[in-house]
Amino acid sequence: MKTIGLIGGMSWESTAHYYRVLNQETAAIRGGLHSAPVIVHSLDFAPIAAMQSAGNWDGAGHVLAQAASGLQAAGAEVIGLATNTMHLVADAITSAIDVPFIHIADPTSDALLADGFDTVGLLGTRFTMEMGFYRDRLTERGLAAMIPDVDRTNLNAIIYEELCRGIVSETSRKTYVAAIERLAARGAQAVILGCTEIAMLIDDAVSPLPVYDTTDLHARALVAAALA
Ligand code: GLU
Repeated sequence: MKTIGLIGGMSWESTAHYYRVLNQETAAIRGGLHSAPVIVHSLDFAPIAAMQSAGNWDGAGHVLAQAASGLQAAGAEVIGLATNTMHLVADAITSAIDVPFIHIADPTSDALLADGFDTVGLLGTRFTMEMGFYRDRLTERGLAAMIPDVDRTNLNAIIYEELCRGIVSETSRKTYVAAIERLAARGAQAVILGCTEIAMLIDDAVSPLPVYDTTDLHARALVAAALA
């Protein structure tokens, strides 16, 4: 099995979940005491979040590209970035490495298409919902993605002010469920949890639409790539 490199810390709450899934998936496939060979570069999220707010995507891309090339130098043979939002700078990362980079939107769209869905709701940070880089990737792969028409500021704030700090609130869960209900009313057949922390609030048991959790799907895809 190849060594997986993970650029994490954005936030560490979801990186911890990645670490668990990488190992559980590897054990499920390989059996016995097998676990995932993985190198995690967990960044301090505060300066990254400040660069996001300032629109300094070149600066953030530089930091993540350096992290990726460091992982490659340390022996990573396949690399993943454990946040949807920062895939905005995926090109900076891929140009810094020679090993495969697994884009988080790809296993997500593969899973949706395999289940027969072509029109989906997308929840995530304002950057992911509004800036186009993520929806364009889904569109290229044959999925029409719609974003909430109201409440995006609040949905975004819940990610940065609560979930990335480990706070899980029933009120925020209701806000997300209401957003999914509105997406369903507009014709979404399923919903992408397009932020690696949203699964802390939403799962199939509470969601009015089938849930596609990017954290889970991405971690499993990294294991599949490492075993290929
Ligand atoms: N983890 C989140 C995501 O998947 C948000 C934090 C970030 O801005 O990276 O988009």
